[in-house]
Amino acid sequence: MNYTVLTLFPEIVDAFFATSIMAKAIQRGVIGYRSINIRDFATDKHHKCDDAPYGGGAGMLMLPEPLGRALEYAGAQKKLMPAEAQEAPNRHQKRARVVYLSPSGRLFDQDLARELAMEQELILLCGRYEGIDQRIIDSYVDDEISIGDYVLSSGEVGALVLIDATYRLVEGVISAESLEEESFSDGLLEYPQYTRPEIYDTLRVPEVLLSGHHEQIRRWRLRKRVEKTLLVRPDLIAKGLAAGRFSAETRKLIQELQIQSSGGQGAAEFEGDTDERN
Ligand code: SAM
Repeated sequence: MNYTVLTLFPEIVDAFFATSIMAKAIQRGVIGYRSINIRDFATDKHHKCDDAPYGGGAGMLMLPEPLGRALEYAGAQKKLMPAEAQEAPNRHQKRARVVYLSPSGRLFDQDLARELAMEQELILLCGRYEGIDQRIIDSYVDDEISIGDYVLSSGEVGALVLIDATYRLVEGVISAESLEEESFSDGLLEYPQYTRPEIYDTLRVPEVLLSGHHEQIRRWRLRKRVEKTLLVRPDLIAKGLAAGRFSAETRKLIQELQIQSSGGQGAAEFEGDTDERN
């Protein structure tokens, strides 16, 4: 996977790529990275990259020309108009995927992280001020992606979130085992984890984790995952059930814990749920 980040502040992103697992992945050649300073593509003597929006309104917008030149330099190709795509469907076979980080984009989540991690090349465009000229989005951007329902002052933070969530899913960056039971890996949040010492400030590590009994540990962990997801992200449970994503064991636990928390009510919801899929 190759990341290209277009930004007015490369130093923010460069620091991330120079650190920890990412730095090692780059050293090993599993991940490639470059930052491009959009300001280098402004041609006036002040390297101006923003101007007031047409039609009035608060704040400034990023100018299309420096952005367009920076994108072309990065290797981004303009999107094909529908007629062009019909005429030459293979023209853009190796086109890098261009993402603009934007609060009005599609919401980023683990499924989208998995999808993006499959790409060979991502070009990430970081906005500033009130955002960017719409014509750049219309010409080059494949995906507008939001990292959450709030407004940041800059796209760099969003780009780093997207990069951090995707690069670790690229084959060869971290072990497949580490990814297996992580939060969201199968529609549930992660179980609680403990390390040494066995007793910290009077709090003991749960006995089952010291038992060496693998099956009991597995069951305890699954129960904890279901408990936590039901408590803090019931939306994930509903989504997983609707998508048929859970095993029979998980569904039984969900049923049990829901009945428990409603004081015995709610069994009807699961009546007829006899599918024995695993
Ligand atoms: N005027 C824009 C609006 O109301 O939607 C907000 C622009 S924001 C102050 C400046 C830049 O921060 C955006 O161009 C975008 O790149 C980035 N940004 C802000 N919130 C974001 C979010 N939730 N996800 C991703 N990027 C975000």
